[in-house]
Amino acid sequence: MKVILFDIDGTLVRAGGAGRKALARAAEALYGRPGLTEGIDMAGRTDAWICRQVFRRARGRAPSVADFTELRDAYLRRLPGTVRKAVAEGRYVLPAGVKALVRRLAKERDVLLGLGTGNFERGARIKLGPGGLNRFFAFGGFGCDGLDRCRILKTAARRARRLAPGGKLEVFVVGDTPHDVSAGRKAGYTTVAVGTGFAPWKELAASKPDHLARDFKSMGRWLGWFGIASRR
Ligand SMILES: [Mg+2]
Repeated sequence: MKVILFDIDGTLVRAGGAGRKALARAAEALYGRPGLTEGIDMAGRTDAWICRQVFRRARGRAPSVADFTELRDAYLRRLPGTVRKAVAEGRYVLPAGVKALVRRLAKERDVLLGLGTGNFERGARIKLGPGGLNRFFAFGGFGCDGLDRCRILKTAARRARRLAPGGKLEVFVVGDTPHDVSAGRKAGYTTVAVGTGFAPWKELAASKPDHLARDFKSMGRWLGWFGIASRR
């Protein structure tokens, strides 16, 4: 069984800064200060990590569980609105070819499609909604499963194992930043990096993924990397 874990931001969708905006507004409402997300490099980071950075900036200490939950919930309450606005203004886009690839992979009997994302699960579902992508992903590892991506990916693989007990699992990780690649490699999975998102191409190439693509347009190549014959 092949397990293919997709990152969300910059890989499955580009949400036009909806996440950052929702978090900035949440932080401003809670801490009374604008600009708390400015300058934080969010690409490839987990929501939990980002929330901790924002809280530390506002309060000068690490958040308690209650602090963290408060910020998370405030963010998730604002996210549907900022995503809706990004859609309305044409800033929410799916990279060309990604939906066709996902749809194709979903038809494969020996493929389990999952998410490997730093987004909180509810945030992930909110971001995927307008693109019609939620139905393809029954499980995943999310930002609530750990601060670091490697743990998130391993959690996703464990959930895949529950769906496919017995037999060997071959896990692939698809993402747009060096963080996706290093986490996938650390977990022992095959890594595929794609230049549709937020990392400079040079840095992406330098992270040495097992496979590297500019975009999702060449379906045959992608299927080959997953060991799937393109004609049937
Ligand atoms: Mg990403």
